[in-house]
Amino acid sequence: MGAYLDHAATTPMRPEAVAAMLPFLTERFGNPSGVHAVARAARRAMDDARESVAADLGARPAEVVFTGSGTEADNLALVGVHSRRGGAVVCTAVEHHAVLETCRALGGRVVPVRADGQLDLDALADALDPTVSVVSVMLANNEVGTVQPLAEVVALTRERAPDALVHTDAVQAVPWLDVASLAGGADLLAVSAHKFGGPKGVGALVVRQGAQLDPIIHGGGQERDRRSGTHNVAGIVAMAAALRVTAAARPEVVTSVGRLRDRLADGLLAAVPGAQETGSRQHKVAGNCHLRFPGVESEALLVLLDEAGVFASAGSACASGALEPSHVLVAMGLSAAEAGSSVRLSLGAGSTQGDVDLALEVVPKAVADLRG
Ligand code: PLP
Repeated sequence: MGAYLDHAATTPMRPEAVAAMLPFLTERFGNPSGVHAVARAARRAMDDARESVAADLGARPAEVVFTGSGTEADNLALVGVHSRRGGAVVCTAVEHHAVLETCRALGGRVVPVRADGQLDLDALADALDPTVSVVSVMLANNEVGTVQPLAEVVALTRERAPDALVHTDAVQAVPWLDVASLAGGADLLAVSAHKFGGPKGVGALVVRQGAQLDPIIHGGGQERDRRSGTHNVAGIVAMAAALRVTAAARPEVVTSVGRLRDRLADGLLAAVPGAQETGSRQHKVAGNCHLRFPGVESEALLVLLDEAGVFASAGSACASGALEPSHVLVAMGLSAAEAGSSVRLSLGAGSTQGDVDLALEVVPKAVADLRG
C-alpha cells in the first residue's frame, strides 16, 4: 500500500487498542454515569483505563481528565486556568495551533525560539513575571520534532512567575519520550490517543492535584466537574490500551525507528543535491525527518510522492493545503521560500525498511523531475 510516512499527523490503531474498544461499541455500551449494572460495568472499565493512563503518564488517577481531543485538552489547560485566575498566558512561537491560537485569543505572550527550534530561555525569562498565570511549552514539536527543555522551563517559571502553572502539550511526545519523567514537573499535560495508536477524538489532560482551573465545557459535571459530557468509554478504554503498549514498546521502537529515520534522512541528504535538514537531529524525536529541497515547491512534491505511493506532509496536518508558510519554520528563521520547500516524513512504530527503501527511490526522482 506504499509507504505511510505521516505518523505525526495520525497513526494506525494498535491491534490491542482495537480489541480493547470493540466490546464497548457493542454489548458493553453502558453510560458510566448511571447507577445500574450495565452502567456500572462501563464505569469499571473507565476506572481501570484511568488508572492505567495515570500510571503511564506518571499521574494519579484523580488527576486525569478525559477530553474529546488533544486540542480540547490544550484549550482546557489555557482557557481553564485563565478563566479561574486571570493573569497573562505565555507560550512558545512553535506551539501547535491548539495552544498558539488559544494563547493569542487570551491576549497572551508568544516567546521566540532559536534557529534549531529550541525555546530561547532568555526570552522566556523576559516574558515571565508575577502576573503570569500559565506557561505552555510543548514537549516535542509536531513539524520538526524538536524536544524542548521542559525541566528548565519549570525551574525558570517557579523562579520568575511563582504562581504560574506550567502546561505541556505532550501530544507528539508519547511514542518517543518518557513523558512521565520528562514532564514530571509540569502542572498540566495534554495527550491525544490518535498519535500513539489509539482512536481519533479522545485525549486527556493531566491536572496535578492543587492546580486549579475552570471547566470550558459545562453540563452534567463529569470528570469531577472539569469536563462535562457523556464519556467516550470505547475511546477511553482504547486510549489506555494503546498507551500501555506504546510505553512498553518505546525503548525498542525509539532505537529501531531512529535507525530507519537516520537511514532515510542521510540517504536523502546524500541523494538530493542541495537538500538540507531542518532542526538538530540530536534534539528531535526519533520518528521525525524534516528536509528542505531548494527550488522545489513542497505541495507539488507531495503530489508526486502521493502518486508514487509515498504519503507525507508539508507540515502540520491542519496547516497543509494552506498557502501560509508554516509558523514553526518562520519562527525558526527560515524564509517563506525555504519553508515552502519543506517536507516532513514522519515515521512510526510500524514503519519498515521497505518504507524507507521506497522513499529513497521515489523522493530523489520526484525532486529531480520538478527541478528539471
Ligand atoms: N498538539 C500537537 C503537538 C499536535 O501535533 C496535535 C495534533 O495534530 C494536537 C495538539 C491536537 O490533537 P488532536 O488532533 O487530538 O486535536
